[in-house]
Amino acid sequence: MSPRPDLGPHPHLGYTASLIDRAAHRRNEMAALAVDPRAGAYLVGGELIITRKRGDGGEPLFGLAEARALAPARETVLLGFLDGAPRFGLGIGKEDAEALKARADDFLVTDLRSIAVQGLVAPEHLPPIAEAKALLAWHARHRFCANCGAATDAVEGGWKRQCPTCKVEHFPRTDPVVIMLAVKGEHCLLGRSARFASAMWSCLAGFVEPGENIEEAVRREVQEEAGIVCGRVGYFASQPWPFPMSLMIGCHAEALTTDIKVDSSELESARWFEREEAALMLQRRHPDGLGTPPPVAIAHHIIRAWVEGDACV
Ligand SMILES: [Zn+2]
Repeated sequence: MSPRPDLGPHPHLGYTASLIDRAAHRRNEMAALAVDPRAGAYLVGGELIITRKRGDGGEPLFGLAEARALAPARETVLLGFLDGAPRFGLGIGKEDAEALKARADDFLVTDLRSIAVQGLVAPEHLPPIAEAKALLAWHARHRFCANCGAATDAVEGGWKRQCPTCKVEHFPRTDPVVIMLAVKGEHCLLGRSARFASAMWSCLAGFVEPGENIEEAVRREVQEEAGIVCGRVGYFASQPWPFPMSLMIGCHAEALTTDIKVDSSELESARWFEREEAALMLQRRHPDGLGTPPPVAIAHHIIRAWVEGDACV
């Protein structure tokens, strides 16, 4: 192996290390918690996060009463507690979010990706915003019973929907996605999707399918998207990914073959990169301007771990 490159301090992985105590046993106390003077709320309107403008960024946490006065809430969910103070997520209409966005002197309203990548809010707010966004997105798409079609009611602080007609209970969904770096000796396999920013290359990824474990999903996705057969698969780390409600399961995979055959319906291109080249891409020092996803995304950390000789296979 070539000498271990020095990439500097490890950056934080976005949306992780939440300070919120979810306190599931208190989810039936919504009415009492909503009048707690310490109650705070994050405001979410579809893809948009509402923050009060502060310097170059924004303050995303509002007092609950203040948040409710800004726009009518379609859904209110209990995220948990920070130092005993209740934290809520308020789902508002997209048109109300757009109206607040138009008040550009008072509010900074933008999508969560931009907020995370540009560091527009203090980092400790990212996990509860991700929690609120994912949970509220689930409510917005699951208002009717999947069993009988009747309108359902949100209960237990928004952590369950109940059907008044057939009595079936529905729980918030998290969709598992495998995201992996196939590696072979001094090379790793990166791909790019047509929707990526130009010159960005990343790990391959795909949803875990029913009846499949993580290792099988990794091998299937790499074979489907790039025609590469993988052997050993090692778990690296995971990351909540609230777009709209996924869990990214990061892995390294040992590639057994080298001939790439790209599935053009999934990827624009895929190719092998040498370790030194990947190191330059992580550091934004590549001579042709090629790069990896930023440190807020787990792909950056999966690639970096391999570059530094810490792959999990
Ligand atoms: Zn029903």
